[in-house]
Amino acid sequence: MRQSSKQVGVDSQHMPSRLRVELYEPVQRRIEQTLLRTSVEDGGKFLGRIVRRDGQLVIRIETYIDSGPRVDHSASHLHPDGEYQEAVFRLAECLDPGIEHLGSWHSHHCNGLNTLSGGDIRGYIQTVSDPDYGPRYFFVVLVTALERGRAAMRYYLFEKGTQEYVELDAGSVRLVDNVYPWEDVVAASERAAQKARNLPSSAAQAALSHPLPTRRERDTSDALRLLRSKDRAWFARRFPEAQIVQDRRDGTLSWKWPVRLDSETLMCRLRYPALEQTDHAPIGQLEILRGNERLVSTVALDETRFQRIEDMVAQAGTSPDENVARPHVSDGSPSHTDQPSSDRKNDRDGAPY
Ligand SMILES: [Zn+2]
Repeated sequence: MRQSSKQVGVDSQHMPSRLRVELYEPVQRRIEQTLLRTSVEDGGKFLGRIVRRDGQLVIRIETYIDSGPRVDHSASHLHPDGEYQEAVFRLAECLDPGIEHLGSWHSHHCNGLNTLSGGDIRGYIQTVSDPDYGPRYFFVVLVTALERGRAAMRYYLFEKGTQEYVELDAGSVRLVDNVYPWEDVVAASERAAQKARNLPSSAAQAALSHPLPTRRERDTSDALRLLRSKDRAWFARRFPEAQIVQDRRDGTLSWKWPVRLDSETLMCRLRYPALEQTDHAPIGQLEILRGNERLVSTVALDETRFQRIEDMVAQAGTSPDENVARPHVSDGSPSHTDQPSSDRKNDRDGAPY
């Protein structure tokens, strides 16, 4: 093997005379994409295998596992998420039992240090010496700079049983046009980990603390969904201007639609119940605004509901002077007190659902 003149503390007697490294092309591409997104140290764990070809040892770096969602890093340090890396390694091993951990890469592009630090070297010697580390060699890529999206790399080789290491010259490391068969799996893990890293902690907390719906709430919600889909078909036919809107405060859904009469327009609204108020026979609420009047009535959400709505709308339209619908005003909620119609814009509807 060709060894660089830049070797530090090297005992070349311990290194095989004919050894080279092959780096699968997506490995370099993914390293560069990762570094483009960050201004701190990042890195990954190389996976591959050592093969013998034409009397030569070839260290084949086929893919890498990224440093995970809970990486602890800055411009001058990097502690990968070991639990995550172990889990992804176990997954890769299930798909490809021959795969091995064969080294790692990390970047100094953010701190200008263009060689391995003392801590890096001690760490690598410790790793390769560990009886749990199977292979004889540990291959290291150090990214020293990112220039126009391309990573400037230095290569090092550590060997079991020695405190020495060598820097490999660029000619010993060849980029090959191969793709690891499970590259998409490993790359998808990296994308997911990146996404999880970028999740604001408050959102992550909220996601964790949001209670899952109970069985009854799920059943109720399924029943309401079925009901709404039937209503949707009816409204589309009968009142094509109807829109479904969601109350920002309590999440309840309503249909809102205008009924245009000769002299005025009625604004109608059918409000579905909130989940927790719903039982086997859900009750909706129909409101009709006519001028300054507000007529409110409950509507059993069963097969009779469409006729009930038709009747209410017809009565409101034809009997302006009478409270024909016997509206039962109010369920106690402050938004249901009588209001002039001009206040309608102040309700809490969000965008159409
Ligand atoms: Zn370092």
